[in-house]
Amino acid sequence: MHEISIILSIISIVEEEAKKHGISHVHSVTICVGELSCVEEQTLRGCFEVATETSSLAGAKLIIEPVEAVFNCARCGGSIRAHTWLNTCSHCNANDLNLVQGRELFVKNFEAD
Ligand SMILES: [Zn+2]
Repeated sequence: MHEISIILSIISIVEEEAKKHGISHVHSVTICVGELSCVEEQTLRGCFEVATETSSLAGAKLIIEPVEAVFNCARCGGSIRAHTWLNTCSHCNANDLNLVQGRELFVKNFEAD
């Protein structure tokens, strides 16, 4: 269950930012989640609901923005967008791909009073 630790760190990031800006009520939190980050969206939502219940984020909505995966080919330099892991380049068939984005998970912003 690494979703719960992700959620706890998201909550502490938002709480800290909210405190810095003198915000008492957060309406919603938007996070960007890479399509290859191996986290379950439903589990994230469930954890968020439970973990915020007793925090200053109680009642806040969790908005998840998926981030598409992008690979870069080391041989031809092409970039390939995908929704799953790829092994071979669709331009030159080399199996020399590097993942450029798609595993990130971060707080994009939050809305508050
Ligand atoms: Zn290639």
